[in-house]
Amino acid sequence: MFSRWTAGPSDLTHRKGLPAPNPCDLGHELRWPIADPIILEGPGAPVYSFFPIAPQPQMPRMLRVRDGLQDGLGRGITYLRVSVTEQCNLACVYCKPRTGVLQRTEAPAMSRNEVVQLVKVFASLGIRKVRLTGGEPLMRRDLETIIAGISPEVEGRVHLTTNGIHLARRARALRDAGLSGVNVSLDAADRGTFERLTLKNGLDKVLAGLEAARAVGLKAKLNTVVLRGWNDDQIVPLARLAQREGFQVRFIEFMPYLGNGWDSARFMPASEILQMVQEGLGIDLEEEPAVGLEEGPARLFRIPRSSGKVGVISTLSADFCDRCNRVRLTSRGELKTCLFGHQPIDLLEPLRNHASHEDVAQLIRQALSEKLDCHPMRQGDTPNLAQGMWQVGG
Ligand code: SAM
Repeated sequence: MFSRWTAGPSDLTHRKGLPAPNPCDLGHELRWPIADPIILEGPGAPVYSFFPIAPQPQMPRMLRVRDGLQDGLGRGITYLRVSVTEQCNLACVYCKPRTGVLQRTEAPAMSRNEVVQLVKVFASLGIRKVRLTGGEPLMRRDLETIIAGISPEVEGRVHLTTNGIHLARRARALRDAGLSGVNVSLDAADRGTFERLTLKNGLDKVLAGLEAARAVGLKAKLNTVVLRGWNDDQIVPLARLAQREGFQVRFIEFMPYLGNGWDSARFMPASEILQMVQEGLGIDLEEEPAVGLEEGPARLFRIPRSSGKVGVISTLSADFCDRCNRVRLTSRGELKTCLFGHQPIDLLEPLRNHASHEDVAQLIRQALSEKLDCHPMRQGDTPNLAQGMWQVGG
């Protein structure tokens, strides 16, 4: 079932004749009418075209799960993102801070056994899917061994996010180790823009990596961060690539952190990105029914007469905190329960000091009981992430 997408907010709260709630206000949640739930997922959910962020209704009642890992608000936590290294072989302008630390990268703090041990604890608590990221995860020579160690713990649901530079020659080994899918980051379809954004010349390698991943049967998607004035002219060419080659490209709103050059003039909301795709391709995008967040936070749109799809990840303009199902493990072995949260919990030191499986599990449960209800920008606070994305694992 598809519905055509049109620009502009479709305000569900107005349709229901209800006042717009502050989603971070627990008092408001308690007043929410229980008999008449509003479904936020799926066609018609708002993509706001302005910034700062408009508040959205929150329905924690719908998020409760009986079994497995839950946070303090009853959100089911099933998805773990693990940064396996801070090192990267690209220097994307929006990712690395343009300060003295530009070239300083850290060796991976967790050994492969430590990664596997910690993932085992998460899996025993209810994590069902793991994504390995970084830094650049393919900088680790032992990545295949790590994948082989964790794949049985999550019934093969291990995915990778990579810049694709070294993917072509490792795609088969990664699949054989138990990897099931790969997201390849690509912010430009032309060499000049690629080089301007990454400070390297590698477009052909990335495209070869994408091709190799598909050839060995890995589910492969493209991720594109959009920066107004830097690569918004790449939106249409990348959407055309998806249309022609029949794959999925997901456009990600530019997020702010630690000196990464974010400002509102560089920010392009998802609604504008979709509008550009429609006009550039001369098509009407058809929205797909929403899938669970485990499949990713993107709203997906079918490209007519193609197996290709366009997605948008609207972290800022229409966030998905109320359905958040994820936690992160940094390459230093710290648990982050929110990308924008400030208090990482060290799991590595207890592990090295011979904490038991149950002790580590208890630390995770405790941290989750304090997981933020939504990221601070939703309340109009200054956007800020204290650590870089290459540290947290984007
Ligand atoms: N090196 C790998 C790669 O390039 O995919 C994995 C790490 S990278 C930090 C993971 C993802 O985070 C990439 O898709 C990247 O584009 C995204 N990312 C990094 N900085 C971002 C930002 N400021 N806003 C939005 N997405 C960002």
